Amino acid sequence: MKIVVIGLGHMGGNMALTLQAAGFTVVGTDVAETARESMASRGLTVVGPDALPAVDVYLLSLPTSAHVRDVIESSPGLLKQAPKGSVIVDTSTSDPAVTRELAKKVLDADLEWLDAPVSGGPAGAAAGSLGMLLGGEASTIERVEPMLKAMSARYTHVGAAGSGHVVKLANNYLCAAHLLTTAEAVALATRAGVEPQACLAGLNSGSGRSAVSEVNFPKWILSETFDSGFTTGLMRKDLRLARDAASDMGLSLELLSRVVERWHADADGLPDGADFNRVTDAILGLAQADGTLSSQEAVK
Ligand code: NAD
Repeated sequence: MKIVVIGLGHMGGNMALTLQAAGFTVVGTDVAETARESMASRGLTVVGPDALPAVDVYLLSLPTSAHVRDVIESSPGLLKQAPKGSVIVDTSTSDPAVTRELAKKVLDADLEWLDAPVSGGPAGAAAGSLGMLLGGEASTIERVEPMLKAMSARYTHVGAAGSGHVVKLANNYLCAAHLLTTAEAVALATRAGVEPQACLAGLNSGSGRSAVSEVNFPKWILSETFDSGFTTGLMRKDLRLARDAASDMGLSLELLSRVVERWHADADGLPDGADFNRVTDAILGLAQADGTLSSQEAVK
């Protein structure tokens, strides 16, 4: 199977190397010359965005749906350039409404479509241990199964085109909320004299645990490494997409609105480029603020 990976950032670059190591013929491209050069120096064949070869699968890992639309419709325009029968797989976290529209155009052009958003970060992409949520036809999944197996520890077919992106937004909403609620829980325990590590150990043996308490806190927050490879800006994008999807359907989700607001509250103190785990800084800081805050402020 021959694969072109479009978008060689934190995720796409690692996916490309993993697929190449698994024996697939992989060519990568990116609009950024620095990204192309960096991947070439790591042994990947790279081409300019307008020089894509004809292959079986075009795997997209791009920042937003607007970038995905560009690549499919105009620049370079996979609808016209990709050979009939080839598969377009969008691993980006994209807007499900745009995905459904693009998937229809892709199918109308005699190509096949899968939305395949991922979890597991750059490390999961490098290890081939991503979690993938798939939207599209079962027959398309079957065709690209060897590729999916090489990239992921687990993939789940959740429905027709667009469904993978819907569930990804639901997942990231929960992850964003858990970062806030777990930080508040740890702040509460810390202010009451319990060490954060001890609090986390307790939470992780109880029903309040989550991937955030089991992975994010020990790996990136309490260790203060903050090098997950996922930015605050990308999480903000995902939250806005979740909020907009709910409101487009007339669904009023109060907690979702509060979480979106909270993540966007401090654009100066928490810039888009910061590691997304940094959202806990302000909350955990409350617990350490040496008695100068009222208990009411500490709980806010
Ligand atoms: P990134 O910004 O590191 O990489 C995106 C790359 O796409 C950049 O190198 C950029 O130059 C390139 N690009 C933009 N427009 C392009 C175009 N028209 N043609 C070719 N290349 C183009 O982003 P990332 O962290 O790798 O994330 C990619 C996607 O995966 C996003 O949708 C993100 O939400 C999602 N995601 C990221 C993570 C993570 O931990 N980083 C985890 C799960 C999902």
